Amino acid sequence: MLRIAVQSKGRLYDETMELIAQAGIKFPAVKRTLLVPSRNFPVEILYLRDDDIPDSVATGTADVGIVGLNEVLEKRQRVKVLHELGFSRCRLSLAIPRDVDYTGVRWFNGKKIATSYPVILKDFLNRNGITADIHVINGSVEIAPGIGLSDGIFDIVSSGGTLVSNNLVEVEKIIDSQAVLIGGTGQLPEDKQAVLDELIFRFKAVKAADSKKYLLMNVPRTKLKEVVALLPGMKSPTVLPLADADWCSVHTVIEESQFWDIITRLKETGAEGILVLDIMKMVP
Ligand code: ATP
Ligand code: MG
Repeated sequence: MLRIAVQSKGRLYDETMELIAQAGIKFPAVKRTLLVPSRNFPVEILYLRDDDIPDSVATGTADVGIVGLNEVLEKRQRVKVLHELGFSRCRLSLAIPRDVDYTGVRWFNGKKIATSYPVILKDFLNRNGITADIHVINGSVEIAPGIGLSDGIFDIVSSGGTLVSNNLVEVEKIIDSQAVLIGGTGQLPEDKQAVLDELIFRFKAVKAADSKKYLLMNVPRTKLKEVVALLPGMKSPTVLPLADADWCSVHTVIEESQFWDIITRLKETGAEGILVLDIMKMVP
């Protein structure tokens, strides 16, 4: 039984559980205990605070864990990133009050910086030869400059909305983060390794499908070449005959990001009955 450490509640929880569900791994509907075995796959979930996940994997309490890369880098435990999961994307940045005249990273010399990530910050400051006073607070870091607790902050940024509402501007991005699957540095027993390989295979199939759509449409035979030329990256889409010999059905897979642009041009070229479907899994 492979034991996966997962955040018990918080920003990682929903998408982690959704990924696990999409990978076909089922759990009892109600979460009564902190250690819950799957109903249909040889894994069990250990629910923890995200701060404790790197340590739990490093010490072998859990075999693998799902946690933000920011926590992995901050905790400096002996773990390795096995797979990037692509959700909970954010960055760790330095930010300062909007009305301050920023002169570059040396501005921080001699300043006081509030953060929940002292290890990553210290490392950045050392690399840049800057001495600053690091003030560790856990939570509500963004209010520190406003209440006179610090000159700047080093914190998680995603949309930047929190910074704006606290009159702060992001001046230096230090790291990009996303949820990652981590494992220990040692060798897992063969049976657990096989389960882990299967788990990563399923995660990859879910992720590959996530950004893609399955597109099908009816196209007049005379327009087939033009339509195929519009489909990006696909030299040879599936083309099926229709009962009406003047028409055919074209099937392909597109990136979700290209979706609107392509749909409009396909319609202009003569495609009809365009269907766009979610792809559940994609195995290369
Ligand atoms: P815990 O109670 O488990 O210690 P927490 O309060 O430390 O939780 P959360 O706020 O739930 O942490 O965030 C967990 C992780 O989600 C962060 O470490 C980061 O990787 C990611 N994250 C945090 N804020 C955002 C955001 N605004 N956008 C995207 N990802 C984020
Ligand atoms: Mg935490």
